[in-house]
Amino acid sequence: MSKYYALKLSSQVTKLCFAALAVLSMWIQPAQAATSINDIRMWTAPDHTRLVLDLSQSVQYDLFRLHNPERIVIDLKKTRMNAKVSKLKLPDPVLLSIRHGKQKGDTTRIVLDVKNGVSPRSFLLKKAKGKPHRLVIDLIPKEKKVVKSAQNKPKTKHDDIIIAIDAGHGGEDPGAIGPSKLYEKTVTLAIAKELEKLINAQPGMKAVLIRTGDYFVKLSSRVKKVRAKGADMMISIHADAVTQRHVKGASVYTLSESGATPDRVAAALAAKENASDLIGGVMPEQTIEDPFIRNILGDMAKRDGLDSSEMFANLILAQLTQGFPIKYNKPKHARFAVLTALEIPSVLVEVDYISNPKRERLLNTRTHQRGIAKAMFNATKTYFTRLGMLHTPTPITHTVHRGESLWSIAKKYGVSVSSILKLNGLKQQALKVGQRLRLPQS
Ligand SMILES: [Zn+2]
Repeated sequence: MSKYYALKLSSQVTKLCFAALAVLSMWIQPAQAATSINDIRMWTAPDHTRLVLDLSQSVQYDLFRLHNPERIVIDLKKTRMNAKVSKLKLPDPVLLSIRHGKQKGDTTRIVLDVKNGVSPRSFLLKKAKGKPHRLVIDLIPKEKKVVKSAQNKPKTKHDDIIIAIDAGHGGEDPGAIGPSKLYEKTVTLAIAKELEKLINAQPGMKAVLIRTGDYFVKLSSRVKKVRAKGADMMISIHADAVTQRHVKGASVYTLSESGATPDRVAAALAAKENASDLIGGVMPEQTIEDPFIRNILGDMAKRDGLDSSEMFANLILAQLTQGFPIKYNKPKHARFAVLTALEIPSVLVEVDYISNPKRERLLNTRTHQRGIAKAMFNATKTYFTRLGMLHTPTPITHTVHRGESLWSIAKKYGVSVSSILKLNGLKQQALKVGQRLRLPQS
């Protein structure tokens, strides 16, 4: 109501008006002060389940545990529930069900029914990178199998070569988003899984996925996992986005040395990728740790790590060039937090631009994902073959001549008939002249 009209009203009407306003404001005020919970999401990781509440503003809350049955209770002061809790896919390995209700004084109470021994960890995140204020509740199951660190175990000659595959982003952090809403986190995981299959089918090599599903892993935990698994190499998979939609092509990055001439484009990309922790949600006090300060490697080992990363990056580019557009035909360098396991060759591959509608469509197809994985796999194989760590015998083939039988061929190469049948996927023993057979290594 403007001052001008208010003055014109008779005093009685004015009094009435103010009285009405006062009553109205008593009704409105608590609602205005309330924080609303606008969305709720859940991400299931192998070692925890994360609940994220989107809030209209920061909130005061209490969290406590109740036993028999096991529950975790969260009281959010002056809060309204506007999120659809029923959309969560429950039960989950640790979270059985979720309820909420109103308590005295506009408190929203959320009750989580959890498995025995689940302990909670919670923290608030301020507005950042397009995400609203958030409350994060991690539910950690009791029996976490202690994975014995393979880091200090000396490798024996017969151990497999371990390749750590890091699918970028995940969970709360979608990474770049394509014009048709394809998420970078989805593409990186799909390529990682294709690469895993190829590596595990190769005798002498074994793949380890740093992320196996749609959940968030903070950058320092990724590096820790690479080390704990005793990996010999690390490939981090990403897809980039820019505002110019026509831009396309792959690029390969390694960690830059301190003191090297800074590459502004690469540095901007590293800053974007390093912001993953901010979006994915890391306890505020944990974001302080600087992976670059904490590196304890000696100069010699560092030099060696950087050289081998550079060599591997060049091999990947050489492979990708054969079937895919390339953005930069030389490896680029910047301070990527995920590449700080310097003792092994570590590279980050931006496979393409998800911001390009045509490339986005391709990145969403299995054939394309497999093709990119195959290029990375070939580079990996070449790298370890050159180092003499991997022996890839050339396959033996035999062309069937007139008068030959499976039995005579088997005898000639000193292998069994059944092994030839199996290797060639044959059901019957009849052969055709000119047929090419693959033969097992005797
Ligand atoms: Zn990324």
